Amino acid sequence: MSQPKSTILVTGGAGYIGSHAVLALTKAGYEVIVLDNLSYGHQELVEEVLKVKLIVGDIEDRALLDRLFATYNITAVMHFAAYIAVGESVSHPDKYYRNNVTGTLTLLEAMVAAAIDKLVFSSSCALYGIPKSIPLVEDHPQDPISPYAKTKWMVEQILDDFDRAYGLHSVSFRYFNAAGADPSGLLGEDHIPETHLIPLVLFAALGKLNSVSIFGTDYDTIDGTCIRDYIHVVDLAQAHVLGLEYLLNGGNSTAFNLGNGSGFSVRELIKTAEEVTGKEIKIVEGDRRSGDPPVLVGSSDKAKRVLGWYPQYPSLRDILAHAWQWHQQRHGQTHLPHLQVSR
Ligand code: UDP
Repeated sequence: MSQPKSTILVTGGAGYIGSHAVLALTKAGYEVIVLDNLSYGHQELVEEVLKVKLIVGDIEDRALLDRLFATYNITAVMHFAAYIAVGESVSHPDKYYRNNVTGTLTLLEAMVAAAIDKLVFSSSCALYGIPKSIPLVEDHPQDPISPYAKTKWMVEQILDDFDRAYGLHSVSFRYFNAAGADPSGLLGEDHIPETHLIPLVLFAALGKLNSVSIFGTDYDTIDGTCIRDYIHVVDLAQAHVLGLEYLLNGGNSTAFNLGNGSGFSVRELIKTAEEVTGKEIKIVEGDRRSGDPPVLVGSSDKAKRVLGWYPQYPSLRDILAHAWQWHQQRHGQTHLPHLQVSR
């Protein structure tokens, strides 16, 4: 048996994207330790499905971080732990700046003190604000609108300064709309409360919701509804492994978009979900949601060029089919046999 590779600390590894990254890391042969305060994450996912060590705690707990870095020989950190609800960030900005910015600063200070100099950061295309040109490229001007988006922008600024001052190298991934689930059916999206379009559409297909509201039908798009770039969570997770290896091989700090480069309107997505699930999905046309740009589609050419990243599941149909399998299983309509995580 080959020796395990380096040990990676994954903050927020009990959450949606973090758990898929843990799976990708273990499949690639890395040892993983998850740090998660379980405010939104799922303990059983880490301990029973992924079978990696879980430390329940907070990124704001400097003493815990110091103990953790002194105990384990950590080579790099993947940092997913963050609050993600845009609307809540508007009503409770203090909560977002405290956790996403101050918490990250505490983590970075502890890394510098422990001489850990590699970080992969979970950023967002939300930092571009309202696009001036489509597809969005990494040097598009940044003008974040919501407090959530501002926290991602601020952390990227802090990372630039930490590189200059302390030589901490980082890769920031600016996600477009993360969606889908691991095809094994073991992992998927499980937010409480759920606000994202795809899970809500699938809840309607399962009969758990009567209908789905479309937030705005008067946008200047093909059918009046917002267009988004949906990217499979497994493809996001794989990019994180490549980003880590880029840093391990001496790569300089930088940021990459992660999207498919093709956009789907809300109506197109609902129609495709009806085809995939074979269920009729009732829609209710509602008002625009504040802060929603009409179109968000990203170019990921830089990630392809520099990291050699190529999405394995670019089709919206596959993204929806995997999410559908997960939600059916999660909500008890079908039972998948117990599957082992192969490494
Ligand atoms: N959306 C919608 N109804 C919903 C939830 C979302 O019409 O119940 C729209 C939303 O306005 C956006 C798209 O679906 O244009 C994707 O929203 P989501 O919240 O999934 O992700 P976001 O784009 O905010 O990251």
